[in-house]
Amino acid sequence: MSTAFAEKARKVVCIGRNYADHITELNNARPKAPFFFLKPPSSMLLPGGGPVLVPRGVNVHYEVELALVMGQTLKDFAVAGRDRATVNAEALAAIEGYALAIDMTGRNVQDNIKAKGLPWTTAKGFDTFLPISAYVEKSQIPDPANVTLSLTVNKQSPPNQYDSTNLMLFPIPEILSSISSVMTIQPGDIILTGTPKGVGSVKPGDHIDASIEVDGKVIAESVISVDVADKGGIYDFVPQ
Ligand code: MG
Repeated sequence: MSTAFAEKARKVVCIGRNYADHITELNNARPKAPFFFLKPPSSMLLPGGGPVLVPRGVNVHYEVELALVMGQTLKDFAVAGRDRATVNAEALAAIEGYALAIDMTGRNVQDNIKAKGLPWTTAKGFDTFLPISAYVEKSQIPDPANVTLSLTVNKQSPPNQYDSTNLMLFPIPEILSSISSVMTIQPGDIILTGTPKGVGSVKPGDHIDASIEVDGKVIAESVISVDVADKGGIYDFVPQ
């Protein structure tokens, strides 16, 4: 299984609030257009790279997401008023492959900085806050708008998160259009497409399993299996 793609990412762009039931569970407003933020590539945690680390004082949430590994440069990718089939085909052509990702989030940090109107960077950017799977070949996902994302904490049944990507509010062409209207999407960039409902906390000692299913079958390369541990270090959350 290959993880070389992770070295090529010059940026990781994440869509927020792209599933209606997740917006509801966090009492957020439904966006009028896709909105996004960045995670530093240094937050990636590759398979076998050790546990997700919980910084002191931080309530860490999991958010399972389909990740796009981009293969083409996209700038001002227009979708409005264009033929849908053409737009879909061009968006798919720009994608090189896929991965599964978990957008770990310091929820109390985020709530605090959101309330103050400050950037989300700290809440999203800690080391290990982006567990990512091995590379999933494009051929394994015939339709990225029709896969199931699954995440389970401590082998609970049913899974904590288990929903189809067909519930995305903004489909992939709209996501690519929105991002590329602001910043050039470069080959190797990784785009996280938002999380379905069911997010929640993990604490040291927990274990997270996640995967992508296509037609009820788990894609082996997409599997993430990771422990959660204390971070240590000098960070200690102090509300702004
Ligand atoms: Mg997210």
